Amino acid sequence: MGNPLSAAAKSVLIVGGGVIGHSAAYYCARKGHRVTLLDRDASERDGCSFHNAGMIMPSHFIPLAAPGVVALGLKWMWNPASPFYIKPRLDGALLDWSLKLWRAATTEHVRRAAPLLRDLSLESRTEFEKLSAAPGNEFGLAKNGLLMLCRTQHALDEEGRTAEQALGLGIPADVLDAKQAAALEPNVRMDVAGAVYYPKDCHLVPERFLAGLTRRCMQHGVEFRWNTEATGWRTSGSRVVSAVTTAGELGAEEFVLCAGSWSPGIVHGLGLRIPLQAGKGYSLTLRRPRQLPAICAIFSEARIAVTPMDGALRFGGTMEIAGLNQNINPVRVRGIIDAVPRYYPDFRVEDFMGIQPWRGLRPCSPDGLPYLGRTARFANLTIATGHAMMGLSLGPITGRLVSEILSGEQTSFDLSQCSPDRCL
Ligand SMILES: Cc1cc2nc3c(=O)[nH]c(=O)nc-3n(C[C@H](O)[C@H](O)[C@H](O)COP(=O)(O)OP(=O)(O)OC[C@H]3O[C@@H](n4cnc5c(N)ncnc54)[C@H](O)[C@@H]3O)c2cc1C
Repeated sequence: MGNPLSAAAKSVLIVGGGVIGHSAAYYCARKGHRVTLLDRDASERDGCSFHNAGMIMPSHFIPLAAPGVVALGLKWMWNPASPFYIKPRLDGALLDWSLKLWRAATTEHVRRAAPLLRDLSLESRTEFEKLSAAPGNEFGLAKNGLLMLCRTQHALDEEGRTAEQALGLGIPADVLDAKQAAALEPNVRMDVAGAVYYPKDCHLVPERFLAGLTRRCMQHGVEFRWNTEATGWRTSGSRVVSAVTTAGELGAEEFVLCAGSWSPGIVHGLGLRIPLQAGKGYSLTLRRPRQLPAICAIFSEARIAVTPMDGALRFGGTMEIAGLNQNINPVRVRGIIDAVPRYYPDFRVEDFMGIQPWRGLRPCSPDGLPYLGRTARFANLTIATGHAMMGLSLGPITGRLVSEILSGEQTSFDLSQCSPDRCL
């Protein structure tokens, strides 16, 4: 294996083995660093990075914290089947996060954040293309674009305004009427007023992507330590010396924290604060769907993602801010199922009988941007988390940027907006 850095090669300990930890491990190992990745779960796990909707979405350039989100959250708060739900509870961290979300949800924030999200997404898409270039297309990458399906003219008008913004940022987008949408996606009957088509979006099978990354990491010498939980740290001055784990102390020259929704608890011991809430979502996969679209789609009003995967069809959605629990809420799952026949009229609620829902906790920062970079407090700690609904999309570029940071290189993008120390 090539070792372009050998003189500057460092030992790197990565905490968290989701898509972000794997991507960081792969890109760091490819630069010649000696990487160990630990995860508290077993290698056969089903966390947030696995059964998600598998979309790579340059179309999602508007951060979660945008004007209108707070009003929408308040409106939907009273509807237990709604797509976005903040469960009211007396929790200082939740109150703090909600306040920060409210403060960040401004036009100015969107104006600053959108070009960065666009650049990161498009560069990540290029990395996906490179990763899938090997024969066999092992992740099932399909560059078919994405349809934002709108049942009502009102939603189509709103999506049309987003499409205009996309075009202004150089992201291709086409507003289609119902006939044009049906012509583009003849494989499934749709009951829609129209759609916006984003040709640059892609989809893949996330489970296969993770398996492929693991294989590549192994080829580059990454050591995996499963069933190993990081419980604390040992530090000396401005350096982290070791991670205290259930398998003993593990030392390294560089540490990368990619523990998703659990990251705030882990950095607490370092005296750092990362405002983050877990945004629970669910998915249901029909192995033999009545019809199989070729283009992945989002039901705009219902906020449900639909992705064809290896002949199966996955429906994913809801954002439930309800703490770190992994319980499955049947009312919210039912909200996803009920929406399907409204957009795809040939599908039936009964199609989902016996389908086991999957759940995942998205790590959500209050301003909708990931935490990516060093903290001022420690010279050898990099944080990479908070990607919310974009963790798969931004996985490869995040991994590459982590490798640039800890190799002491100029990063490919100005990451000041993503600083873990940013004032929120
Ligand atoms: C329904 C749904 C659909 C989605 N669809 C998409 C999509 O289409 N496109 C997209 O881009 N994104 C999508 N997402 C979001 C995406 O899945 C997440 O952003 C991404 O998986 C987050 O990855 P992560 O590596 O940061 O976190 P995780 O996958 O949660 O990984 C964190 C890891 O850290 C480990 N860990 C935690 N604490 C410790 C500890 N103390 N010690 C050791 N290990 C620890 C955990 O076990 C876990 O394996 C979706 C999410 C959901 C729920």
